[in-house]
Amino acid sequence: MPTDDDPEILTSREAEVGGVPVRRALPQRTHRTVGAWCFADHIGPSASGVATIGPHPHIGLQTVTWVLEGELVHRDSVGSEQAIRPGQLNLMTAGGGVVHAEDPEPGLPQRGHAVQLWVAQPEATRRGAPAFEHHAELPTSELGDTTATVLVGSFAGVTSPARADTDHLGAQLFLRGRTTVPLDAGAEHAIIALDGPVALDGRALGVGRVAYLAPGRTELHLATTEPRRVLLLGGTPYPDEIHMWWNFVAASRDEITTAQQDWEARAERFPDVTSVLPRVPAPRPPWLARA
Ligand code: MN
Repeated sequence: MPTDDDPEILTSREAEVGGVPVRRALPQRTHRTVGAWCFADHIGPSASGVATIGPHPHIGLQTVTWVLEGELVHRDSVGSEQAIRPGQLNLMTAGGGVVHAEDPEPGLPQRGHAVQLWVAQPEATRRGAPAFEHHAELPTSELGDTTATVLVGSFAGVTSPARADTDHLGAQLFLRGRTTVPLDAGAEHAIIALDGPVALDGRALGVGRVAYLAPGRTELHLATTEPRRVLLLGGTPYPDEIHMWWNFVAASRDEITTAQQDWEARAERFPDVTSVLPRVPAPRPPWLARA
């Protein structure tokens, strides 16, 4: 059952991606993952775009990109070239290795507001083939005064068409009053405020904070006096220990070391991707002795 510490209100870490300040809601020291969600950056809203980034590799994870304002062009080593606009979802599966770049849409500098999420892939697919999906439209469900857009997984009676290798859930809730949100008691959840403070079980949740809700809950109360969007993440607590470093998620540190070396050696598993931005060099893993 939920305790006095539930929800836990945690602070996102200030970070920077491609010169754009971001609020890193996950990982948290006390909650490395929420379901299979292992990384969550809230970008903007700002006048400096949607955090563009040159070619860089991933293994063992899916990137889930949700844009609220602005536009990006995604290119990857699967051969994808896809613009993403507000209300659309890009989902890239790294498996054993993928490279991608997120270029600015040519033209004037633009405002940007987005969420960049990672999902840890399970043992069954983490060394599998890379893949990419774009979803121009996503299913929605009305919950009283709230419209839920289901990015990944199932929520409030609708299921996203996006690939999900585990039972994780991602949904944007557009709040216009009071709402009771149904939750799966077997899952843990997180709520991230996207454009202003909301009340969560009567407690304030502002931008730059993330609420963690332990398993055992069947509902959550959200309220706002202004129209506001929040992100709901959830899933069964991730069963395996994961190693996460730089752009890699793996079952062991050795797999990460090999991926870092393969990226630096331009190995076949990480093909070249065209971008207006420079290729991102890998830092040296801190656990390797100095040469
Ligand atoms: Mn990336």
